[in-house]
Amino acid sequence: MIASAAGQQRSEADRYEPLLRIAAARAVRYLATIESRRVGPSAAAIASLAELGGGLAEEGHDPEAVLDLLDRAGSPATMAVMGRRFFGGVIGGSLPVTVAAHWLADAWDQNACLFELSPVAAYVEEVVLGWLIDLFGLPQEAGGALVVGTQSAHLTALAAARHALLANVGWDVEQDGLFGAPPITVVVGEEAHATLLKALALLGLGRRRVVTVPADSQGRMRAASIPRLSGPTIICAQLGNVNSGCSDPLAALCDAARRSGAWVHVDGAFGMWARTAPARRHLTEGLEQADSWATDGHKWLNTPQDCGIAIVRQRETLREAMAVSGAYYGEPAGRDPMRWCPDSSRRARAIELWAALRYLGRRGIGDQIERTCRLAAQFAEGLRRAGHEILNEVVLNQVLVSFGAGERTDRVIKVIQDDGICWCGGTTWHGRRAMRISVSSWATTESDVDICLQAVDSACRRCG
Ligand SMILES: *Cc1c(COP(=O)(O)O)cnc(C)c1O
Repeated sequence: MIASAAGQQRSEADRYEPLLRIAAARAVRYLATIESRRVGPSAAAIASLAELGGGLAEEGHDPEAVLDLLDRAGSPATMAVMGRRFFGGVIGGSLPVTVAAHWLADAWDQNACLFELSPVAAYVEEVVLGWLIDLFGLPQEAGGALVVGTQSAHLTALAAARHALLANVGWDVEQDGLFGAPPITVVVGEEAHATLLKALALLGLGRRRVVTVPADSQGRMRAASIPRLSGPTIICAQLGNVNSGCSDPLAALCDAARRSGAWVHVDGAFGMWARTAPARRHLTEGLEQADSWATDGHKWLNTPQDCGIAIVRQRETLREAMAVSGAYYGEPAGRDPMRWCPDSSRRARAIELWAALRYLGRRGIGDQIERTCRLAAQFAEGLRRAGHEILNEVVLNQVLVSFGAGERTDRVIKVIQDDGICWCGGTTWHGRRAMRISVSSWATTESDVDICLQAVDSACRRCG
């Protein structure tokens, strides 16, 4: 019996090994040549994606041929976020150790729903949540969940807020729904991120029935403009405006909230990570006083997609909001991740997060944040020296630059993207078109910034 089981194992390995070796060789080649290719894919590469389409074949194909086609047609149509000169949106590359850990975890194919079904995934998730709570200096009693991104972290944390605030006034929202429930006032800043408003919409709290607080020139909520609060209330603060990088005055917002018993939720997708860099820590003042936090690992920590993180001060409110039962789930054998998040079957995204935190350590994380902020400052300085107007206070990793009239700015952005030396996107800031530079990758260096400054120069000259 044992001999035949071992034989069986060998033949399983035989099935995987050649394919994994091919995938590794192709992946290594992709990464090795990433600096010599354009950052944004060419129109021809995008057109060639049609090779991956067509109707579903009646008969299957050899696995080697499947991989070959995927690499040939797919790799050229990627955005080179794993290179050093992608600055479009706050999307970091992935630390090498996290990519490798992800591969290993893929070989495990764990369903991280129940401890019983994957002790390693459930245990590591608990470990990383503890590490993150410690890293951000959040209350020890907090609990959390790993979800897809900051979008679903909002959904998760705000569901806990909705549960707690309505339970306080005697309403069980999970059992009785929102029809007829006491109203919840939701306060957001004028510059709240679109994902926050979407989470409010999904939770029945509404996009339009929010109280919107005006922002200052950098997009920071004006704390003095917060109306007098009463009844169940959620204040949604933001650390890291996706355009300017500026953060709401969280400490003042928490003070206002405390006076009225309001719940403070923090959208800290990337801005929260400033907490880990001693020189930027002041930008997150008051962080530990909030009630819930939404962030992710795939932006500034540089884990692979997708890795959202929701943390809630009163962990029981999260567990109650996410409760689920069924005889088929059995009795918990440990912390069951699915009892803390909206999902049931889910991948073991804790693994890459664990690898990133274990590899970098507290100091390495802070260094990565600080280094990218300095590169953003180098960008701003170089652009200013070249005579361009910087539209934001560069306090974090975000730079907004104008190349004159909106139409010219858009033309310059297009030429830069087409040249392929670097990639930045466009945005509108206070009614003006701007190019948005986000420095978010561990791999970017000072000389990359210089190369990009030259690319901008060259594009501007050709745009007249
Ligand atoms: C990116 C971002 C989000 C959304 O995060 P996802 O991980 O894409 O869901 C929310 N808020 C802010 C401020 C962001 O920068």
